[in-house]
Amino acid sequence: MFVQILGSAAGGGFPQWNCNCANCAGFRNGSLRAQARTQSSIAISDDGVSWVLCNASPDIRAQLQSFAPMQPGRALRDTGIGAIILMDSQIDHTTGLLSLREGCPHQVWCTDMVHEDLSTGFPLFNMLTHWNGGLSWNRIELDQSFTVQACPNLRFTPLPLRSAAPPYSPHRFDPHPGDNIGLIVEDLRTGGKLFYAPGLGQVDGPLLEIMAGSDCLLVDGTMWDDDEMQRRGVGTRTGREMGHLAQNGPGGMLEVLEQLPGPRKVLIHINNTNPILDEDSPERAELVRRKIEVAYDGMSIEL
Ligand SMILES: [Zn+2]
Ligand SMILES: [Zn+2]
Repeated sequence: MFVQILGSAAGGGFPQWNCNCANCAGFRNGSLRAQARTQSSIAISDDGVSWVLCNASPDIRAQLQSFAPMQPGRALRDTGIGAIILMDSQIDHTTGLLSLREGCPHQVWCTDMVHEDLSTGFPLFNMLTHWNGGLSWNRIELDQSFTVQACPNLRFTPLPLRSAAPPYSPHRFDPHPGDNIGLIVEDLRTGGKLFYAPGLGQVDGPLLEIMAGSDCLLVDGTMWDDDEMQRRGVGTRTGREMGHLAQNGPGGMLEVLEQLPGPRKVLIHINNTNPILDEDSPERAELVRRKIEVAYDGMSIEL
């Protein structure tokens, strides 16, 4: 399977438009060696022609333009997007659907919980019905693998992950399984196995086993320190409160990944405050030592 990283940053992107933290300011004034990154989205394909988009970010237009296979020329109006899978109903993962209105109807796969949020607090499904039928909902059952017509050789298995629903969700303070999922994607021909979880707040025993059996882990790289937002003076919420496991510290992502010698390890959904964005930082060097990669826009992975 082909995995294309369209956007590797967390919400806000890097640099974030209104942020003057050390990373964002350093990037702008040229004192920081780092790459700009758009908001979290990947595309997966079994043939390199038809693609499944995982999350539709506010940066979707630029992301599609930056990756030629997304604009095939088979018809006057055409796209490489065959289906869209939503991992949750967060703004930075769903707003791109609005920018895809010209190509409706789209096949959208998401859980009951995500569909509810996107039909009530943030009613994308309702709004887009006015564009050629809008979004055609395919329900993700939490205990069931599924395949999509566009990529028949890929099998998707959802994994409910602990997280909070967005502020506009009717069950914001009442978490449900399905608010946030990870995905196992298997290529039934090559046997390649991807574990994708851009929002991963907690790793328990069974999940660790699933990760151990994967060829590549594309996992939550949002924050280095759990209290990074406070440290950088840009917020008060911790990573844990936002459903993200920080890399550093006891029980952090570095310790989790340390237990998994087999798979290729790639951090994605990097927040603009994270010191690993600075390619000369000690934190980045620590990742290199541990053979952990940092996803960047335009990165291609083949499994
Ligand atoms: Zn996000
Ligand atoms: Zn910043």
